[in-house]
Amino acid sequence: MSDEPAHVLLIEDNPGDADLVRLRLVESSSDLDVSCVDRLSAGLESINQHQPSLVLLDLNLPDSRRAETFRKVLNKAPGVPIVVLSGQDDEELANKAVHQGVQDYLVKGDFDSKQLSRAMRYAIERQSLLRSLDMSRQQQLKFKDEFLSHVSHELRTPLTSIHQFATLLLDGLAGELNPEQREHLATIYRSANQLRTMIGDLLEATRAEGGKMTVEPRCVRSSDMIHEALAMLRATAQEKGVGLEAGIDSRVPLLYADPDRVSQILVNLVENGIKFTGPEGSVMVKAYLVDADPDFVYISVADTGRGISPEAKSLIFERLYQDPNSIDNSRKGLGLGLYISKELVRLHGGRIWVESELGHGSVFTFTLSLFSLPKILLPVITEAGQLKESLSLVAVQLTPFCNPHVGNWEATRQTCLQLIRACVLPDKDIVLPSPSSGAQGEVFTVVASTDEHGARIVAERIQERLELCRQLKPSCAFRVSSLGLQLPTDRIGKSLEKLVQEVADDITRWLAQGLQPIHISGEQPEMDKSERGAKHNKRGQNE
Ligand code: ADP
Repeated sequence: MSDEPAHVLLIEDNPGDADLVRLRLVESSSDLDVSCVDRLSAGLESINQHQPSLVLLDLNLPDSRRAETFRKVLNKAPGVPIVVLSGQDDEELANKAVHQGVQDYLVKGDFDSKQLSRAMRYAIERQSLLRSLDMSRQQQLKFKDEFLSHVSHELRTPLTSIHQFATLLLDGLAGELNPEQREHLATIYRSANQLRTMIGDLLEATRAEGGKMTVEPRCVRSSDMIHEALAMLRATAQEKGVGLEAGIDSRVPLLYADPDRVSQILVNLVENGIKFTGPEGSVMVKAYLVDADPDFVYISVADTGRGISPEAKSLIFERLYQDPNSIDNSRKGLGLGLYISKELVRLHGGRIWVESELGHGSVFTFTLSLFSLPKILLPVITEAGQLKESLSLVAVQLTPFCNPHVGNWEATRQTCLQLIRACVLPDKDIVLPSPSSGAQGEVFTVVASTDEHGARIVAERIQERLELCRQLKPSCAFRVSSLGLQLPTDRIGKSLEKLVQEVADDITRWLAQGLQPIHISGEQPEMDKSERGAKHNKRGQNE
């Protein structure tokens, strides 16, 4: 052997068979270090400790039998070559083992030292070849992703200039345009936009592939996201004569999702719906609940277009896939939209699928988690199966100086959120997802594992950080308040889930009332203490 195995592990419980194999091993080479165990458990331990160069494996052992035996070894040591020692009547099983990743097999009592030596050499070389193939594939993928990411970034810069100047000219800022010039410019503008989308998709897909895509869930309304996506695509649909409709079940409660990412998914699906549907057709977006799946909302995008063949249906969520039958002049894109959508839905903990029949339209459906405060609170407010001793709330109320839909309100709220997060302990406190921003601004609430005194300190820290932030000053006013939560005292016979639910209900009540009890700085707000219930009397006095 060119690269002789230094250490062979023989897992065989039959002493006679074990002796015979040892003998063949000695005959085949004088340079082997052989160890033998008669149980799978001992074999797995030995693999763990000594990383053998090769494993000779009997499949029927006292503590494991047949396929389970090789699967466990493959699992434990995916990089170690394995040669199965099969019984005379077990060749079928041995073949199955080879298909599932074992390198080779020998039939017991039916091989000499030469055959054993050849099988071992083959197994080791095959394994090392597979390893280097895998490494070069990984390297190629990495290189390709780096290349794509680099090229996409580089392309974006000049494209942004083309887009900006085309906008400037179209807006008439560089002088009047005649109709012909306007038409040509509009074509440039549309193409630049299309390129921007493709480059954005390439970047997103590269991020998804590298596990770098992220979502930031908040408490959001599905209707807002759906109407927003439809508004964006209404002109495109009208141009093509495709109807756009929404049907949202009014009972759908708030969701826990990243609104920008959900819009991205919706735009992808609706845009595809319009693209693959002819004039007179329609695209319908629905949001509804399913009794059998009560933690999720179902969002579907149905079109009356060309539909998808059964073969294509299993492939369309793959990266870069485009159905060859759907390629015509109307096709624009890279075959990345559904792949990105699938990754985004997965990051939200949901599912996405398609039902379709050629010629009879398609229905794409994805699910998103409903917002559940107890679910979010559970890991933070419990410890060792019990509610923590003390919990408090710190509320940061942001009020924009101007209409948040006009200025860059998203950047302001993100800055604020980051500053708040920097002031809390990641494993002990949680910043609750805030509802989407409205004209009144929004309230970020921290649930902190501390008492009133601790909460006051957290609130002061946040106040200080916000005051020091120059970026926030021109865009919004903020008020920070804190209060201690009185935890349920009557705990006998109540499950942890029930107690967490009670705390969540309590917090929800406070949030619904605006949570403005005490102010660290600024004037005392008006609040109807009596309304807040006897249970909360005088909590969080922050004088
Ligand atoms: P793109 O649309 O950019 O080609 P996607 O990933 O969004 O990429 O879609 C992949 C493929 O799935 C499309 O090329 C098309 O063949 C098929 N497809 C997607 N949506 C629909 C639809 N609503 N109707 C018919 N085919 C569709």
